[in-house]
Amino acid sequence: MADTWPATAPTIEILWRYQDESRHYHGIGADFRTREVLRKGAIGRDCARRCQAPVASSCAETIVIAEALAESESCPLHLENTAGAGGTLGRSFSELAALLEAAGGGPRLGICLDSCHLYASGYDIREPDGMTAVVDECFAAVGKDRLRSLHLNDSAAGLGSNKDRHANVGDGELGRRGCATFLSEPRFDALPCVIETQGKERQGPDPEEVQLAWNLRKQGIRRRRRRN
Ligand SMILES: [Zn+2]
Repeated sequence: MADTWPATAPTIEILWRYQDESRHYHGIGADFRTREVLRKGAIGRDCARRCQAPVASSCAETIVIAEALAESESCPLHLENTAGAGGTLGRSFSELAALLEAAGGGPRLGICLDSCHLYASGYDIREPDGMTAVVDECFAAVGKDRLRSLHLNDSAAGLGSNKDRHANVGDGELGRRGCATFLSEPRFDALPCVIETQGKERQGPDPEEVQLAWNLRKQGIRRRRRRN
């Protein structure tokens, strides 16, 4: 799958949107949708107060997930970690694990890790040690088989800011070095990776940015080799 990783904007087609929150990708050697989960209005807020666990099977959010799954017979749905802005679920791996469980934990459910959201929710992934710790925590909470896709974005907002502000690759707080660390994480090999940035012209990532991501992946791998 080396020639499709990271996936490039020109080979990704956004086929379908689900309430503006779920994106359906194909054409990158994978077919899946990703979705950030929001607490739904009063029901969600009430549930957050009442439930010990972050989510329960009766929550509006899990019903939304069930409905999204029911819209096709086979398309996988990857729940995306969030930046932790108000109302979002999935800022921590325990929340994602609880969501997966509450949604029934079926085989079509997976997790998508977004580099910007990780950083904004307080995970410092700029250096390999931090990245390793994050993946360890993710696997311990949701199981390694659940991690199925990646979103690459730099972050215009600070570590732990809980602000979802994508920056072009290398232009944000992660910087080239941080993006290189994310892209060279060995346990991400063979996962589809989607670049979601606005790009220089605000038309989405251009081939130059895609090439930069490939170059950063190579740099990250070289740096990791030098460390060992
Ligand atoms: Zn994303």
